[in-house]
Amino acid sequence: MTNAEKSAVLILLGPPGAGKGTQARMLQDQFGLVQLSTGDLLRAAVAAGTDAGRTAKAVMEAGDLVSDDIVIAILRDRLAEPDCAQGVILDGFPRTEVQAQALDALLGESGQKINAAISLEVDDSAMVTRVSGRFTCGGCGEGYHDTFKPPALSGTCDKCGSTDMKRRADDNAETVASRLEAYHAQTAPLITYYRDQGVLKPVDAMGEINTIAADLAAITRNLHG
Ligand code: AMP
Repeated sequence: MTNAEKSAVLILLGPPGAGKGTQARMLQDQFGLVQLSTGDLLRAAVAAGTDAGRTAKAVMEAGDLVSDDIVIAILRDRLAEPDCAQGVILDGFPRTEVQAQALDALLGESGQKINAAISLEVDDSAMVTRVSGRFTCGGCGEGYHDTFKPPALSGTCDKCGSTDMKRRADDNAETVASRLEAYHAQTAPLITYYRDQGVLKPVDAMGEINTIAADLAAITRNLHG
């Protein structure tokens, strides 16, 4: 790995179910970049019962976007932790233009910039099935899917052997519809935002997980030539 890869800032854009979490974890394993998921950070805040978590809970259950102020504050604190110096993959952030501008400003303070905004391109019609079948290992966070990525031994994590599998409260058909709506209204415009910055990398994300991962790995390797 080059030094440039180590300090890379990658963004994964795409609707719920596009595979952002799965691909971010694969890039983390392969390149040592740190996956920063604002959804995970918010779920941790909800579980910990912080003020931000209490405010975010109902919004997340409705499939709407949590306020920019809360999300930007959570992301800023996480980005300041020392492990982020090795490079980050932002998964689920930014989701609005205000967040995108805040990110540019935050990175600018430390002389960093976005190396690539990878847009995972998918058909909306497939997303409800993708999201409603998914679950996660409570032990190590590995993601699974009833149809597309079942564990080898049903109910047992391939990676860590835990049998503590979790499904998200907002991964149901009704909430996914609201989340897709929020994506198209508020997040999809960021595709133009990053195209204008010259960092947009569109990737067809309807195929096999490993094929998409190979495309993303090639983009990451080629970031700095
Ligand atoms: P995710 O795990 O990325 O699917 O996010 C789950 C939920 O957390 C979303 O439906 C939003 O309610 C909230 N959320 C996560 N990231 C953001 C963000 N960057 N801005 C606003 N809300 C967010």
